[in-house]
Amino acid sequence: MALEADFEPGYSAYPPPAQDNAPDAAPALVFPFSGQRLLVGLNKELPRPEDLQPLGHPLRAICFGTLSGRKCVLSVWPPEQLLPAGLETSDFRVLWDYHWPPGRLKSLVRAKQLAVWLLHHQHCGVCGQGMMPSPNEIACLCPACGHKAYPHISPVAIGLVVKGSEILLARSPHFAPGMYSALAGFVEAGESAEECLCREIREEAGIEIQNIRYFGSQSWPYPHSLMIGFIADYLSGELTPQKNEIEDLGWFSPDSLPVLPHPASLARKMIGHVLGLL
Ligand SMILES: [Zn+2]
Repeated sequence: MALEADFEPGYSAYPPPAQDNAPDAAPALVFPFSGQRLLVGLNKELPRPEDLQPLGHPLRAICFGTLSGRKCVLSVWPPEQLLPAGLETSDFRVLWDYHWPPGRLKSLVRAKQLAVWLLHHQHCGVCGQGMMPSPNEIACLCPACGHKAYPHISPVAIGLVVKGSEILLARSPHFAPGMYSALAGFVEAGESAEECLCREIREEAGIEIQNIRYFGSQSWPYPHSLMIGFIADYLSGELTPQKNEIEDLGWFSPDSLPVLPHPASLARKMIGHVLGLL
């Protein structure tokens, strides 16, 4: 199997104009969604076009890029639709562990976020008329009032706090059993990512931080986040977990680590980086 590491994001209406469909072009790769959930075959692979025929016409369909030169099509059906035999719903987190090639996972991160966007913009938020994907740009367009709705991206600040030779890790009630990670939260209106990080760590852990430095970012399809990663140093305060948000938290040394997030996650990369420096 090709590595499929060469996903190129793009956008065009679907079906594409006839002149874009050369007769010898490789068949499109269809990412079918039932609501916000990807449809796969029982082998966890993308379904063949004939497997999708019983579903009929999708609610929305767009082209969202190319993968190894093949056009990628996102098709979205209503979530309540009954699934044909041989199909099941799956999710990015499952397929991450199912050895999907990196390029296909990258395609899925984009497809999932665009599926959510299309589902949430079937009607205009200004006048209530039906919206349709624009033929020219990645936007849902209202034919009545001209309002355009672009895909949402929600920034999240995530920070790994260092104190001497220990790192601050915490667990939310919804984490997998035993897993701890860096603290994170959505950036609020009017706030910088660094201000968000200080506020979140103050609220969730009861401490102040200093020396915030940027580490990197990662697109994250739950539901349309951009994780912005920072490393920071402890400044003051006693650890106090926020009620109902943080189940447990603590300072961890390299020889007493809990279960950590997925190796390909930004949080895990930050943890690996910091542990390598200690
Ligand atoms: Zn409108």
